[in-house]
Amino acid sequence: MDNSVRVRFAPSPTGPLHIGGARSALFNWLLARRYGGSMIVRIEDTDLERSSRESEENILNALNWLGIDWDEGIQKGGEHGPYRQTERLDTYREAAQRLIEQGHAYHCYCTEEEVEAERQACMERGELPRYLGKCRDLSEEERLKLESEGRKKVVRFKVPENENVIVQDLVRGNVVFESNGIGDFVIVKSDGIPTYNFAVVMDDALMGITHVVRGEEHLSNTPRQLVLYKALNLKTPTFAHVSLILGKDRSKMSKRHGSTSIEAYQNQGYLPEALVNFLVLLGWSPEGEQEIFTLQELVQQFSLDRVAKNPAVFDVDKLNWINGHYIRQSPPERITDLAIPFLREAGYITGEIDQQTFEWLKLIVISVQEKLAFVAQITDHVRLYFDDHVTMESEEAAMVLKDDDIPGVMAEFRRKVSEAEELTPEGTKAILKSLTKELKLPGKKVYMPIRVALTGQTHGPELFYIIPVLGRDRILVRLAQTVGV
Ligand code: GLU
Repeated sequence: MDNSVRVRFAPSPTGPLHIGGARSALFNWLLARRYGGSMIVRIEDTDLERSSRESEENILNALNWLGIDWDEGIQKGGEHGPYRQTERLDTYREAAQRLIEQGHAYHCYCTEEEVEAERQACMERGELPRYLGKCRDLSEEERLKLESEGRKKVVRFKVPENENVIVQDLVRGNVVFESNGIGDFVIVKSDGIPTYNFAVVMDDALMGITHVVRGEEHLSNTPRQLVLYKALNLKTPTFAHVSLILGKDRSKMSKRHGSTSIEAYQNQGYLPEALVNFLVLLGWSPEGEQEIFTLQELVQQFSLDRVAKNPAVFDVDKLNWINGHYIRQSPPERITDLAIPFLREAGYITGEIDQQTFEWLKLIVISVQEKLAFVAQITDHVRLYFDDHVTMESEEAAMVLKDDDIPGVMAEFRRKVSEAEELTPEGTKAILKSLTKELKLPGKKVYMPIRVALTGQTHGPELFYIIPVLGRDRILVRLAQTVGV
């Protein structure tokens, strides 16, 4: 591969961008960037009923969010446009006409019921369900008769007989299909719209695509595309079919295994670089043991020879682990920005966030940042800061406050907090230190009771965060409530 590499991502806008599509987009993008080639994004919207502009937008937004950009294509333009298939209908129409004239394709007048009955009959005979070519050799007379009956017609491609069609695949090696198993397939539907297999061939060829990297679910389409390339006398790109993504139970990835759309992860506070890192490992394996990769490292290292043939397993625990890593590495300001909508939704904050409030929220975030696998989880960790009605979470917590030393410790703590000018994490550390020193008690005998008195819990964020977050007034309220000082 070199800088003449031209790859594409060609989504059908029939729903949001899914994990599998995002992985295809990423693999193509990495190849383009690695070899200094071009990435093209084309919208395959020939399924008029299921395609929508809303889905198209969702897909493009998700790509942008992931940091996958493109050099040419939808929204970007370029020399090979338009990049939306419904805007290229003339191109397909002309090509179909040419194929008919050259005897590579023909009009078929069979009804859907007739076609279906034939498929069923094939299956009953233990053959691959396919169209057997009834309309292949209609005489002009027969054709006119069918036309006069007002029958709908499609254009079918005449698949050459008795040939082996070989997909030379960079991931899977040579995959051989018998042409007789394919059956003459539709290339233009009765409404004049091309089918996927036809449009994709025209576009990949006309857009100068050198490598087609896509999911394994398209492998069975590829022999159809190969016979079309040949008939159209177009240059065939190199194919690479990336394995399916399965759930942990080895069944096809579905909602049962976790969200499948990229947007769902974005909405839960996953970070784009974490998702990219996770997606690349669905099928590609690096040389060493490294699992965390920057985009730059991926661009330097990604290659198709380390893309596996066997299925990739979608493991949400791994995604959470990777995302947790990136959250811990992120500046707290970034996580705070992401956390605000979740805190609002939970009812913990309302109204405008001024600078002071932001700083306060940032401290809250810092106190729990290392515990988060994704930002939405923050609401589970921060209740203690917002609910001034402290309840003991357990018998064990209540017991902590029964010790004989407690009234003395609490009174002293109260005094120090009341006197402190400002409660910062550093200042708090100093207060706690002087407290243990003056009371001549081990840290444990001081910190745990204070924690329980302020939160009702024996665990949680560091005390030197809890105290500044609560601030003096709320600390005094809580102490009065739980230990009566
Ligand atoms: N439009 C197809 C899809 O979304 C893409 C097929 C291809 O990459 O050739 O599945």
